[in-house]
Amino acid sequence: MIDCLNRTIDYIRISVTDRCNLRCVYCMPEEGVVPMDHEDILSYQEIVRICEAGARLGIRKVKITGGEPLVRKDIEKLIGQLSRIPGIDDITMTTNGCLLKEKGAALKAAGVSSINVSLDTLDPKRFAKITRRDCFQTVIEGIEAAKALGLNVKVNCAVMEELTKEEVLAFSRFSMEQEIPVRFIEMMPIGQGANYKAMNNDDLAGILSDAYGKLTESKRVIGNGPAVYYTWGDGRGSIGFISAVNHKFCGTCNRVRLTSDGFLKLCLDSPAGVDLKGPMRAGISQDELLHLMEHTIWNKPESHHFDKEHEKTDLNMNQIGG
Ligand code: SAM
Ligand code: SF4
Repeated sequence: MIDCLNRTIDYIRISVTDRCNLRCVYCMPEEGVVPMDHEDILSYQEIVRICEAGARLGIRKVKITGGEPLVRKDIEKLIGQLSRIPGIDDITMTTNGCLLKEKGAALKAAGVSSINVSLDTLDPKRFAKITRRDCFQTVIEGIEAAKALGLNVKVNCAVMEELTKEEVLAFSRFSMEQEIPVRFIEMMPIGQGANYKAMNNDDLAGILSDAYGKLTESKRVIGNGPAVYYTWGDGRGSIGFISAVNHKFCGTCNRVRLTSDGFLKLCLDSPAGVDLKGPMRAGISQDELLHLMEHTIWNKPESHHFDKEHEKTDLNMNQIGG
């Protein structure tokens, strides 16, 4: 469907849980996290209902996210059900990769086409510092297992100011060796992320062009969204930049979000949206659900306002899904 600003909305990011097996410093506090009660979290049946209504409204692409989506029991069953909804033609996932080695085959069989693995450093010690857990090698094995299964894999690196030139170049070599795109994502001042300063992606591109010479903007469409990709040399490596802070892309935004407790969230950093769980549990019909979603999406805000205190969301990113 289109919204009131003529943007085509065809993509939903679904956070299936707020729980996570890591504690990334920019995403969740170290301690004191109270997970939602199970009964407050949407059931698979409820998620499927929302996606069926969404598909009738023109939603074509679904991203499964979290918290960590692979910690939710039988996640592949949900994916199987979503992949059978007429109109939904692409299901992808973003994961921290810790359980990817054991879950990859089931995800592929259920219909996942592409996996984004979040990996912020290639240094195991720094990985443990950022995630507050020690499982770097398991994540690398997860990436390799997913590739071996024929899944499209991309790496997402949330960039904190401390990312060094050496690490940027290590990621560029990793991209060439593994032949997978690596995307640098600007840190957004949401939840715990507000404690960290974003590094401008333009500076990172400068590090690459100093090392490899002129970068070529890649014309390939990789993924659902706003990344700009660059290649160099023989084109095996590919680095993408997602610059939500310094290069706002709200004018072409194609997405809405569903939190694990059933809030249809219209914009990453705005409280705008509607609760779908309450009406569904109160017995709303499928047509009423569709009209509620349609009316809400029509009023999607024009843009995020990272700079305005009063319009901020009060959620951490594990509750929103990234
Ligand atoms: N656990 C899964 C994972 O890490 O991919 C899915 C959920 S996680 C919230 C989704 C993405 O959001 C991750 O790539 C993570 O790095 C990113 N993220 C979390 N907090 C962020 C922030 N403040 N700014 C930018 N990206 C953030
Ligand atoms: Fe967990 Fe993903 Fe948040 Fe890290 S970024 S704490 S892996 S939800």
